[in-house]
Amino acid sequence: MAKAKLEYIWLDGYQPMQSLRSKTKIVSDFSGKLEDCPMWSFDGSSTEQAPGNSSDCLLKPVALYPDPTRKDGWLVMTEVLSADGNPHPTNGRAHIEDDDNDFWFGFEQEYFLWDPSINKPLGFPESGYPAPQGPYYCSVGYGKAYGRDIIEEHLDICLEAGLNVEGINAEVATGQWEFQIFAKGAKSAGDQIWVARYLLERVGEAHGVAIEWHCKPVKGDWNGSGMHANFSNTLLRTAGSKEIYEKVLESFRPVIAEHIAVYGPDNHLRLTGKHETQSIDTFSYGVSDRGASIRIPVVTVEKGWKGYLEDRRPNSAADPYKVAAVIIKTVKAASL
Ligand code: ADP
Ligand code: MN
Ligand code: MN
Ligand code: MN
Ligand code: MN
Repeated sequence: MAKAKLEYIWLDGYQPMQSLRSKTKIVSDFSGKLEDCPMWSFDGSSTEQAPGNSSDCLLKPVALYPDPTRKDGWLVMTEVLSADGNPHPTNGRAHIEDDDNDFWFGFEQEYFLWDPSINKPLGFPESGYPAPQGPYYCSVGYGKAYGRDIIEEHLDICLEAGLNVEGINAEVATGQWEFQIFAKGAKSAGDQIWVARYLLERVGEAHGVAIEWHCKPVKGDWNGSGMHANFSNTLLRTAGSKEIYEKVLESFRPVIAEHIAVYGPDNHLRLTGKHETQSIDTFSYGVSDRGASIRIPVVTVEKGWKGYLEDRRPNSAADPYKVAAVIIKTVKAASL
């Protein structure tokens, strides 16, 4: 009888930055279908999700991918439910009010590879700093790109798992990298980003390198990490009008706080107006403007105002479920 290894993945209850947890369930004669992944449970008192005297939390399978790192392995993304079967308060996915697959998302996930022996980014010397920013972005060569073996391995397993990665690149700071994932719908985009993060953690383990998701891990003149949210709906893809774009963009202005609340912890350290960001309390937009809150890509304008927008404010540690949900809410209100 064939036995499959199902790795159940969930988000714990740590705040302000939830971490990934997982455990393995062995299943006989697994069909490879999501509907044949059983519900499961875990000890919520060990993940800040339940008190010790009433510790059971439930895992509801919501997305399934093959696990290329393991013989007969599967990755099962799950939602956390309380013992009564209702979504747990830490379950951002269940709180997506309106998952409209007409909304397309391209998330650019930035992060640092982190050298635990010196507690600094990969490529930093033991004391002091490497050469200032400039040569690292999209770099090639010894002394410029650090950890390529790790990010190549991650890319391969993401693609083998069926995640819709659209590209990768070295970023502006030393040891900083990015991958992009495109998906239709908030839940699918969020599922894929979380599973890609999970696989990166696993690759890091094997190489003795940590993954730093914090948005500003190195103080000073070093870029922070974002998770730019590129988005579109039929309206934006077909508008053909600058005025329609401005109406959508202006609808973000009165709800700055609602967006920033879910755009990731410690974002004030990153959204300073420097290092290709706008200040956290200012809202602005502009064509090709990487110092704006929302950039209008030049291709959108060249195609006659048909395309997408890039909200540059979400950070590397944000929950993509929550980011996508609030963008859908704001754009939908303006699309009426
Ligand atoms: P940047 O120039 O900001 O580094 P990237 O090439 O890294 O841009 O990322 C751009 C992202 O925009 C890609 O992930 C891509 O999938 C996404 N994208 C392109 N067209 C659309 C669209 N119509 N709707 C949503 N996302 C889109
Ligand atoms: Mn036990
Ligand atoms: Mn990018
Ligand atoms: Mn980037
Ligand atoms: Mn970008």
